[in-house]
Amino acid sequence: MAASQAAASEQSYAPAPSKVNPNLYAERKELFEKTSIISDIPWAYLAAVDQYERTMNIAKKRPVHKGITSIYFPESDWAGILNPDQQDTNPKSISFFHGYGRDGSGDGVAERTNDLDLLASMAFLMSKNGTKEENLLINLWNYYQNSRSVERIKQFATIFNTLDTLDLGEHAFPLPVSADYSYRSTWGDSRGWGGHRSHEGTDLFARHGVPVRSTCYGIVEVKGWNPYGGWRIGIRDVNNIYHYYAHLSSFQKSLKENDIVKPGQTIGWVGSSGYGKPGTSGKFPPHLHFGLYRDNGLTEWSFDPYPSLRKWEREDRNKRRK
Ligand SMILES: [Zn+2]
Repeated sequence: MAASQAAASEQSYAPAPSKVNPNLYAERKELFEKTSIISDIPWAYLAAVDQYERTMNIAKKRPVHKGITSIYFPESDWAGILNPDQQDTNPKSISFFHGYGRDGSGDGVAERTNDLDLLASMAFLMSKNGTKEENLLINLWNYYQNSRSVERIKQFATIFNTLDTLDLGEHAFPLPVSADYSYRSTWGDSRGWGGHRSHEGTDLFARHGVPVRSTCYGIVEVKGWNPYGGWRIGIRDVNNIYHYYAHLSSFQKSLKENDIVKPGQTIGWVGSSGYGKPGTSGKFPPHLHFGLYRDNGLTEWSFDPYPSLRKWEREDRNKRRK
């Protein structure tokens, strides 16, 4: 990936979730729980779709209404593609033209900017053929026409369901800040250690066996060997950011794919694995290669993790002082 492209995409990184009013998470969760009772869709699935839409609003820079939810329908989807009135808010004519718009607030109007209407519309299309998990997944596939979207929503639902909260903005530095380590900004260097051709990440040099910790709340998406990355782990967070940890000497044994992790949780140990067949090690000094990737629904691009690392390091140092 060209460095200029990566630099441009970095600007679209989500605003720090820690700055969000914590009451908003509780308010949002309550709304999903209420809708769950009416629609029979598990609250974690309503939350997951809403969150997926939020990440797409950021990745695609879509116009966002100020509200509790982030569900987005283009006009033609809302009103119906053949509807002569593309701003239609009449549930009857919308329904006639097979639009997704529904009235969830009970005021007789289906508005694309009303949280309850948006949520009711999404709940309706999700539960068309039933509300069992497999039905929800099929309905979501029919809507998004993209298995990647469905996979993300399933992952988010697992995270929300396991942790029972939407307040998951906390992060941690990938190494204990008390350990001996060093790193610098190397974004776009033509060559890094461990055979990364274009260096899409930051190398954190530390001794063999220093614990590697999850930087986020998330779900283990990938765990295993890769010829370049060696023993590596990929964790997806609810901002649809993929956190990538490479060249580990070993993994935390109990950790499996689809497990939920928390910031600061040990996932493996620093090593120098990689650049060959499984088990190859010692071709370069031990270090953690850390990368961040954003999903835009169709593909994924890396952005410079260095500013985030500096922020998380500072936060962990402050926690230690308290
Ligand atoms: Zn590296």
